Amino acid sequence: MLKVDKLSFAYGKKEVLKDLSFQLKEGEILAVMGPSGCGKSTLLHLLAGLRRGYRGTITSSAQKIAYAFQEPRLFPWLTVAENLRAVVTDRKVTDEEIYGILREIGLEDTQRLYPSELSGGMRSRVSLARAMLYGGDLYLFDEPFAALDEKARRELTVWLKQKIRETGASAIFVTHQKGDAEAMADRILELH
Ligand code: ADP
Ligand code: MG
Repeated sequence: MLKVDKLSFAYGKKEVLKDLSFQLKEGEILAVMGPSGCGKSTLLHLLAGLRRGYRGTITSSAQKIAYAFQEPRLFPWLTVAENLRAVVTDRKVTDEEIYGILREIGLEDTQRLYPSELSGGMRSRVSLARAMLYGGDLYLFDEPFAALDEKARRELTVWLKQKIRETGASAIFVTHQKGDAEAMADRILELH
């Protein structure tokens, strides 16, 4: 589904990724780990086609990529429910569907709230739910559980893994927690 071969990337003179090679199989979940600043977010940007100017090759059969960025990037002028609805343009989304996915992540009471009325952890959960609702054959999640406490992250990893498996999609997610990686991923890629 995805093949990365000798990928290198630099911001100006600052080299961030060097000769990185890995593959992702159909339906596989890969965790990406590594210290702050090692290029994890940059890697996801490159895979999503949001940055050019790299060396090496990225070969992907993904038709549709759903991306939950490291910062939740919710539309501040839309409510939670409207934020979810806004990303789905190719089909009709019912109120039940919106309510259902919010209930699954414990946010059913936030439908009418604005992002500024949510905590950081709630915002990142909405961002996750939005990516899942958007859907795709490749999911990219950048530290999806970073703002969450232990209990919430345990529940969320289970929920997210099941959700991804249901769709048969592939996923790459960045995390700092070995526990999250082991709970969710088929394989772990460590960057240095
Ligand atoms: P990570 O997600 O692993 O913490 P990033 O991919 O965000 O790391 O960043 C990798 C390195 O590139 C860091 O040193 C960061 O400061 C730098 N960097 C990130 N984005 C930019 C940018 N737009 N311009 C210049 N340097 C950047
Ligand atoms: Mg990052």
